[in-house]
Amino acid sequence: MDLEFDRQHIWHPYTSTLNPLTCYPVVSAHDVTLHLEDGRELIDGMSSWWSAIHGYNHPKLNQALTEQSEKMAHVMFGGITHQPAIDVSKRLLALAPDNLQHIFLADSGSVAVEVSLKMALQYWHAKGESRPKFLTLSHGYHGDTFAAMSVTDPNNSMHSLYKGFLPEHIFAKSPTLGFGEQWDDADIADFKAKMDLHHRKIAAVILEPIVQGAGGMRIYHPMFLSRVRELCDQYGILLILDEIATGFGRTGKRFACEHADIQPDIMCVGKALTGGYMTLSATLTSKHVADTVCGGEAGCFMHGPTFMGNPLACAVASASLDLIAENHWQQQVRSIESLFAKLLPALTRHQQVKDVRWLGAIGVVETNNPVNVEVIQQHFVEQGVWIRPFGKLIYMMPPYISQPEHIEALVKAIELALESEACFIQD
Ligand SMILES: *Cc1c(COP(=O)(O)O)cnc(C)c1O
Repeated sequence: MDLEFDRQHIWHPYTSTLNPLTCYPVVSAHDVTLHLEDGRELIDGMSSWWSAIHGYNHPKLNQALTEQSEKMAHVMFGGITHQPAIDVSKRLLALAPDNLQHIFLADSGSVAVEVSLKMALQYWHAKGESRPKFLTLSHGYHGDTFAAMSVTDPNNSMHSLYKGFLPEHIFAKSPTLGFGEQWDDADIADFKAKMDLHHRKIAAVILEPIVQGAGGMRIYHPMFLSRVRELCDQYGILLILDEIATGFGRTGKRFACEHADIQPDIMCVGKALTGGYMTLSATLTSKHVADTVCGGEAGCFMHGPTFMGNPLACAVASASLDLIAENHWQQQVRSIESLFAKLLPALTRHQQVKDVRWLGAIGVVETNNPVNVEVIQQHFVEQGVWIRPFGKLIYMMPPYISQPEHIEALVKAIELALESEACFIQD
């Protein structure tokens, strides 16, 4: 591959043209293995950012995609419908919390978040109230488009760069109590105070249930989420749950909100929806919200992307949801979780480790120093694994089909990295 061309001309996520880095060329991927151009094989610890939950090159997903491509790859969704959209929507609504009855199919996670925020704004507009604010949490991540960024942690998304353009929303302190810790209402105090003070201006609360992903890989107490639901009910404020990272079994439940036994008014899904094959997302809502939105001045929900309900993406998503419905993921995720529980605590004896945590098929090692991305990435590749850390976080969310030896190899490679000073930026 022409890596020099890539380096000189192609932007990768969050990269600089002034200091371009060389990427690793992948030529194919099977099951949990990425194949590099030079023949090396890497055990995947990332599921390509939460998405490839069934592994790569899955025969059923391949089949769904090729069969659909022989019928039609795409057709507009305005005034036209098709079987793949109906199939995926039926499956998704059956899987999701049962108050959710209406679905909007979009093309990426960020757009699903934009759609959810627009739904909430149109909802209040229809009710004749001005509610221009959203309440969310620090350390949150909801995507890279403007509205999604406006509810993403101000420091991580550098709100100061966009001052005067980015709407300013309300950020409460993120939860500090971990998933299994003793609950204390003090953890929700700041959120409650912000709710009490601003509720007349707030259209909706938006947050990631149970696991805050890209903003810090923080795994929090389900009671926090239960209390958020109670407060939203008390004030009649909508609750938007961003299940884009957590959905489809990753935390050990189908959706993370099930840990708190609550239902959102609006829910966003994406990432693993197509098993990592195509870009597709969805925003689901209740009949009450949908009907209120559509009863307003606009008379409809005001959104309609060109590639809405793309048939290829819908077909492969249906096949992925069929795999989810077979429920093997439960045993698979549980076995990954028990391996994390067995292997991660031993890492805390390394001086570099600040904390280890895990839930379902998510394993996190928080370090005292930030990683040197280039050096640690090379270390992982030499160890035969693909793990991509950021900041002080080395984390794994492997495909559900990973076998014990794969998880052991990932943790072993992390352990070796912790012993290498070069992998970290010393202060
Ligand atoms: C990745 C992610 C998004 C954004 O999804 P994209 O497909 O990258 O636009 C939004 N919310 C959460 C919680 C995510 O993890």
